[in-house]
Amino acid sequence: MVQWSYQRIGDVVFSDGVLIVGASQAGAQLATSLRDLGALCPITLVGAEPHLPYQRPPLSKAFLSGKVSADEVLLRSASYYTERDIDVVTGQWIESIEVIGSGGTATSARGRTFAFDQLALTVGGTPRRLHVPGADLGNVFYLRDLPDAIALRDSISAADRVLIVGGGFIGLEAAAVANAMGKQVVVVEALDRLMARAMAPVVSDFYLDAHRRRGVCVMLGTDVVGMSGNGTVSSVELSDGSSLPTDLVLVGVGLAAHTELAEQLGIEVSGGGIVVDEQGRTSRTAVVSAGDCTTLRAAGGLRRIESVANAIAQARAAAATLAGVPGPPLAVPWFWSDQGDLKLQTAGLSAGFDDVVLRGNPESERFAALYYRHGELIAIDAINAPRDYMAVRKILESRGSVPREAAADSTLALKSFIRA
Ligand SMILES: Cc1cc2nc3c(=O)[nH]c(=O)nc-3n(C[C@H](O)[C@H](O)[C@H](O)COP(=O)(O)OP(=O)(O)OC[C@H]3O[C@@H](n4cnc5c(N)ncnc54)[C@H](O)[C@@H]3O)c2cc1C
Repeated sequence: MVQWSYQRIGDVVFSDGVLIVGASQAGAQLATSLRDLGALCPITLVGAEPHLPYQRPPLSKAFLSGKVSADEVLLRSASYYTERDIDVVTGQWIESIEVIGSGGTATSARGRTFAFDQLALTVGGTPRRLHVPGADLGNVFYLRDLPDAIALRDSISAADRVLIVGGGFIGLEAAAVANAMGKQVVVVEALDRLMARAMAPVVSDFYLDAHRRRGVCVMLGTDVVGMSGNGTVSSVELSDGSSLPTDLVLVGVGLAAHTELAEQLGIEVSGGGIVVDEQGRTSRTAVVSAGDCTTLRAAGGLRRIESVANAIAQARAAAATLAGVPGPPLAVPWFWSDQGDLKLQTAGLSAGFDDVVLRGNPESERFAALYYRHGELIAIDAINAPRDYMAVRKILESRGSVPREAAADSTLALKSFIRA
């Protein structure tokens, strides 16, 4: 049974339990994990958005294409939180936090104060803005939350031409949706390949060809230098001197983590996020953090991962830290991206690989890339190949590997390499 410590500092007895700032994937998981660990203290999950915590992945996929509704993207129903005695407070942007000992108070922009014994920051991030002339015109969209997705969805329906700035996951997922709706879609990417931050060149090249085959125009090595229009955007100027007419622009150029509260508390921020260790501890004792707002300090250095799986794993670890119990075993990172009918699933981290083995034929649009470092399997990117993905994820979790030759032989089932 978890022993919850309540603090007396001077005349103040903190009996306010855990305050989790940021009510989304990581925050909701942290609250749930605390209860699963047996915590009996009050748990308050406070978030700026007006909704209960919801899933963001559908916003660039099934929600954008109109296949699921806002209610269907909720992570949990209201009754789920009530039954677990988790107080979810929506619509409150926390703008200042004062820590006294290990407890303290947080105050929202609307003047509400929340006292706490222990604090978790699960504040995620906000889309990076494009700073070019005309970027503030109407019909220039970013995609992070439900209102963004609703506005973008309505605008795409009414548009003929859609221009997407950024060939990362969100941009390409939205491009696939708009393309399937019969729109003329252009993706403008500054780097020389797609999804360059997370994917190896072989996968980037495959996606470039696949999107082009489906009719999406992809321009690599090209910057957007300006936008023009009368109230709303009607054309985009590019670094090669050309300009493209468009009815709307979606900018997907990355995320800026919310680090303001951590900075206010003197907590270390580096690599664009709140620095945490594998237990979710920040540089300030008793303040934990999890999810997209963090930078993980691990054996290999600083690492930022923005994914659902990472938010869940870090939140579980942070909950264990608050509860004073050992954390769950380290999870193998995994991720997915649905770009139309192309289902990408990744496990492990391919950064630093020195060899890649293809399994299956990219032309069939069903294959996997297995990454090796010093002869050891470190990651997989599987495209429409869920069995290989699942087998490799389990192999990595069991700290196993697959000999190179076996990896290349698609008649051999990879699951035989999962260690008992
Ligand atoms: C369109 C889209 C598609 C995606 N697709 C995938 C996918 O296919 N696969 C995948 O693995 N991941 C995907 N992701 C990423 C995934 O959704 C994130 O990794 C995940 O949401 C991170 O959760 P989080 O709780 O850390 O942060 P967030 O979801 O950003 O939540 C942070 C919350 O904190 C709130 N907040 C911030 N500051 C304050 C404050 N001061 N006071 C109160 N509240 C505050 C914010 O309003 C927000 O609700 C996608 C993301 C987007 C936007």
